[in-house]
Amino acid sequence: MKAAILTDTTKCIGCNECAIACKKANHLAPDSPRRWDAEDGLSARNWTSVVEGPNHTYARQQCRHCLEPACVSVCPVGALSKTALGPVVYDQSRCMGCRYCMMACAYGIPRYDWDQAVPYVRKCILCYDRIRTGGQPACTEACPAKATIFGDRDELLAEAHRRIAAAPGQYVNQVWGEHDLGGTSVISISNVDLSFLAPEHPAGSAPLPQTTALAMHAVPFAFTGVVAGMAGLNWIINRRMKRQTEGSDE
Ligand code: SF4
Ligand code: SF4
Ligand code: SF4
Repeated sequence: MKAAILTDTTKCIGCNECAIACKKANHLAPDSPRRWDAEDGLSARNWTSVVEGPNHTYARQQCRHCLEPACVSVCPVGALSKTALGPVVYDQSRCMGCRYCMMACAYGIPRYDWDQAVPYVRKCILCYDRIRTGGQPACTEACPAKATIFGDRDELLAEAHRRIAAAPGQYVNQVWGEHDLGGTSVISISNVDLSFLAPEHPAGSAPLPQTTALAMHAVPFAFTGVVAGMAGLNWIINRRMKRQTEGSDE
C-alpha cells in the first residue's frame, strides 16, 4: 500500500474539524500570533488548515508528501526522509536548523518553530505512527462530510477520476497531485482551480529534486565544511541542553 489522502473540495463544508483533530492528535500547543504568520493558516503549531478559495470553496492546506520530495533532497543531514509507506517524516535529533527544506518546498509547507531552543521544523507527517499500525490520519477520521479520505494512492486516484467522469460539470478536469512535480501522496479534486493553494508552485510534472540536487552539488566544497561544523556545533549544544535538563553541570 502507498498511503494517500484525497480531498474533494465539493464536499468540504469548511467546519475545520480536520485541523482541530490534527492539533489534538499531535499535541500541538495554541499558536502564538506573529506578524510574519502566513495567510494560509499553517504554522509550526498548525500542520493543516482550511483555506477559503473562489466561490466560497474550502480547500485543505497541508504537506503534499511528494513522491520525490525536494525537502528531502536538499537536507544536508538527512533530517527529512520519504518512508516506503508514503509519509515524509522528520527527525528533529538530526536537524541543524539550516531551513533549506523551507526554501526548497514548492508548496511553501514547512514552518520553523521559533519558540523552541533547538532547531525545529514542523509540518504534517501524514500521521505516520497511526497509519503504520493500521489506523488512519486524525484529520480524515474527523471529517464529518467525508470530504477528505485516506487510502491507497492508486485506489484514491481511481476514485478521483471516477467522480470527475460521473459529474464532469461539477469538477475541473484535473486531479491535483497526480503528476505535479513528480506526483504527491496528498491529492485533491475541486470545482475551482486550486493553484491559489501554492502560488509559488512552478508549472510542470518534473520532480524538483532533479533541480535541487544539481544546485546542491554546485555548492562550493568549502561550504560543506561549514555545514559539517554547524552540525557538530548543533550536536554539542543539544548535548549540553540535555545534560542541563538532567541537572548535571558540564
Ligand atoms: S510538500 Fe514540501 S514539505 Fe511536503 S514533502 Fe513536498 S517538498 Fe517536502
Ligand atoms: S495527516 Fe495527521 S499530521 Fe497530517 S494534517 Fe492530517 S492529522 Fe495532521
Ligand atoms: S473536516 Fe472535512 S468538511 Fe470539515 S473542513 Fe475539514 S475537510 Fe472540510
